[in-house]
Amino acid sequence: MTVNVLVELSNRNIDKSFTYNVPKEFEEDIKVGVRVKVPFGKQKLEGFIIEINNSLQDDLKDIYEVVDKDVILTPELLELGKFIKEKTLCTLISAYQAMLPKALKAQNKTNIKKSYIKLIEINSINEDIKLNEKQKLIIDEIKKGNNRKDVLNKISPSSLNTLLNKNILKEVAIENYRLSGGNSIEYPRYKLNLEQQNAKDTILNSSDKVFLLHGVTGSGKTEVYMELIEEMLKEDKTAIVLVPEISLTPQMVERFKSRFQDEIAILHSRLSEGEKYDEYRKIAKGLVKIVIGARSAIFAPLNNIGIIIIDEEHTTTYKQESNPKYSAIDVAIKRIETNNAKLVLGSATPSLESYARTIAKKYHLVELKNRANNKPMPEVTIVDMNKEKKKGSYFSEILIEKIKEKLDRNEQIILLLNRRGYASFVTCSSCGYVSKCPNCDVTLTYHKSSDMERCHYCGYATKRHEVCPVCHEKSVKNLGVGTEKIEEELNKLFNARVIRMDFDTTSTKGAHEKIISAFRNHEYDILLGTQMIAKGLDFKDVTLVGVINADTSLMIPNFRSSEYTFQLLSQVAGRSGRSEKNGIVIIQTFNPEHYAIQLSKTQDYNMFFKQEMNIRKKLNYPPYCYLVSIKVISTEYEIVKNESSIIVKRLKDNLSNSLILGPSIGSTFKVKNTYRFGITIKYKKEDNLYPYLEKLLDYYKNNAKIKIDIDFNPIS
Ligand code: ADP
Ligand code: ZN
Repeated sequence: MTVNVLVELSNRNIDKSFTYNVPKEFEEDIKVGVRVKVPFGKQKLEGFIIEINNSLQDDLKDIYEVVDKDVILTPELLELGKFIKEKTLCTLISAYQAMLPKALKAQNKTNIKKSYIKLIEINSINEDIKLNEKQKLIIDEIKKGNNRKDVLNKISPSSLNTLLNKNILKEVAIENYRLSGGNSIEYPRYKLNLEQQNAKDTILNSSDKVFLLHGVTGSGKTEVYMELIEEMLKEDKTAIVLVPEISLTPQMVERFKSRFQDEIAILHSRLSEGEKYDEYRKIAKGLVKIVIGARSAIFAPLNNIGIIIIDEEHTTTYKQESNPKYSAIDVAIKRIETNNAKLVLGSATPSLESYARTIAKKYHLVELKNRANNKPMPEVTIVDMNKEKKKGSYFSEILIEKIKEKLDRNEQIILLLNRRGYASFVTCSSCGYVSKCPNCDVTLTYHKSSDMERCHYCGYATKRHEVCPVCHEKSVKNLGVGTEKIEEELNKLFNARVIRMDFDTTSTKGAHEKIISAFRNHEYDILLGTQMIAKGLDFKDVTLVGVINADTSLMIPNFRSSEYTFQLLSQVAGRSGRSEKNGIVIIQTFNPEHYAIQLSKTQDYNMFFKQEMNIRKKLNYPPYCYLVSIKVISTEYEIVKNESSIIVKRLKDNLSNSLILGPSIGSTFKVKNTYRFGITIKYKKEDNLYPYLEKLLDYYKNNAKIKIDIDFNPIS
C-alpha cells in the first residue's frame, strides 16, 4: 500500500504532495483525511493523506507514524478545500489548514491533549463488607450520582483510596470537554408574530435555497432562526449559525443555549486552543447538532446539514483578509448545494451585493418590516456640528442636554466614536511635522493611558514627542479625537459612570463579555465605544444613542464608505429604545446633507439602496462589476515599482474584457517595511481571468523578492 501525502512547506506558497510506502503495521489505520508523519530530506513533516493506492513500489520511503485515529478532513471538507483553491487561487494545503483548529492542523506546534476527568464507579460490593462512616458516605454519594474523584476526595482521600485498593470501587477516566457551559439564563419563548411566521413558512416551504431575511433592528430575526433550526432538528438534520464575532454577541449565544442546551458547540477565536480542539471534536463525533461561531465555523465538520444561517450578513468579517481570502458566504453556498440544505442571510442593512441578488432573483427576499414587540423605531436627530455655537466642543448642546436628562432618569446611554486612542495624529504647529510610523506609511495615534504614540497597523510604539524632532520647537499638538479623549471629556462634563469598549480595553480573554454584562447590570451609565458596540446588543434600559462623529467612516478612501456609514448608523441606532421606554438617537456630523446620514434618520434602506446603486452604476463599481485586487509586494522599492508596471502591461494584453487600473500606491503603501503597489481589475465577464491569474502566480512563485497577493471581491 502507498499513500499520497499533502504537506506544507514553510514559507513557500506552493502545494507539494509526495508518495510514501505504508509499513504493514500501519495499514489498518490508513484512511484518506488523517494526518501522518513522513520523512522529507532530513526533516520530519506532517501532512494529510489525500489518496491511497494498493499498488506496491520499491523505491519509496516509509511513513513514520499515523497521527490520528479518526478522519480529520472528511470527504466533504476535502472537496471544500478544492473549491476554495479554485475560487481564491490559494494552495490546497492552506485551504485545509484554514478549516481546522490549530491543534488539528498539520505541522502544528501546539501540545494540546484531550482532557479527562476521573470518575469513581462501584466495582463490587456486598453485605459482608464492613465500612466505616466516611466510606459509607462516599458510597452513598456515588449512588446519588456524585462520582467525580476530586469531589469524593474532599470527603476523605484515605477512605477513598482504601475502597479503591480493595477493588470495591474502581476509577474510570472519561473525556472532559473544556469549554464550560456557564449558568445559562432562561429566555422566554415567544409565539411568532404574523410577519415572523410568514418568514419561517416561506423559507421552509419554498423550493428556493438561498434567502435574504431583511428585517429591521429588533424585528425578531433570531426568533425566526431558532424556529427554523428546530424544524431541522425534527428531521434529524444539523445547523450552522454564523455571527460576526461571538464575543460581541454573547446574548445571541445565551438565547441559543437557553433554547437548545447541550446540542450546541461554539467555535470562535477567543476560545483557548484546548477549548477549540474539544468543541471541534464534539462536532466531528456527532455529539452536537448546532454549531454557532464566527467565520471559520463555516467549516464545522457536521453531517447532514439542513440549514446555514449567516446573521448580519453584510459584516466584512465574513471575508477572510489573510490567505486564503475566502468569503464565508461563498463557502456556505457550496455547502448547502452539497447537503441539499437552505441558507438564510439575515440583516437589517444587507450588503448592496446581496440585496441586488434578490432583485436578480438569485436570492429569495423575505422581509420583517416591524419591530417584534411593536415598539416604534427610535426617533433620530441629526445635528449639524458646523452650526454649534461653542466651536471645537465634541458634544453638541442637544447631546449634552439629553445625556443629562437620561442620567437624571437613571436610564442608560450608548455613545459611538469609531476611532480609538486619544488623538488621531500628532503634529507640530510650528513647522507642520506629522508623527509617522517608520515601518508603515501612516500617522501615529497618541494613546494617553500609556503616554505613547502608536501605529495601528504594525504595533510600533514610541514615547510621545515633547519637542518637534524637526524644528525643535515645543509646539507639538494632538489633533483629531479618539475614544480615550472622549472618555476624559465625559468624566469632566458629567457625574456618570463611564465604561469604554474598544480594541485597547478588550485585549484580554473575556473582556468583551465583562464589559457587556457590567453595563447590562447597571454598574455603568454610559457605554462608550468603537463600532464593536454597534452590533446585536440588546440592553433594555438604553434610551439614548449618540454618535459623536458620523464622518469618520465617510472619510475612508473606499467606494463602500457610504454603505458602511449607513450600516453603522442604522445598527447603532437600533440599540436605542428596544424595550418599554422609547428611545432617541442623536447623530453629530459635519456633513448633515450627505445621503448616507440623511437616510439613516428614517432608516430607509430601500431608498438608500436606490441612491447608492445609482452612484455605483455611474462610477462602474460593484455590484455592477466585479473587482480583483492584486498587490505586488517587495522589500525593495525599485523592484516592486518596475515589476508592477510590467504586470499591468501583461494584464492589459491578456484580459481584453477588463479594465486594468494601476499600479498605484495606496494611502498605506509601506506597511511593516515592505512596499506594496496595487493593481485593480474591473470586469463583468472575463473568461480568461482565472487561467491568466494562475499563470501569473506560477510565474512569480520561485521569485524570492516579489510576492503577489490576489484578492477576489476585496472589501478594502
Ligand atoms: P433582531 O435580531 O431582528 O434585531 P431580536 O431577535 O433580537 O431581533 O428580537 C428583538 C426583541 O424582540 C428581543 O428582545 C426578542 O426577545 C423580542 N421578540 C422576538 N420575537 C418576538 C415575538 N414574537 N413577540 C414578542 N417579542 C419578541
Ligand atoms: Zn507601523
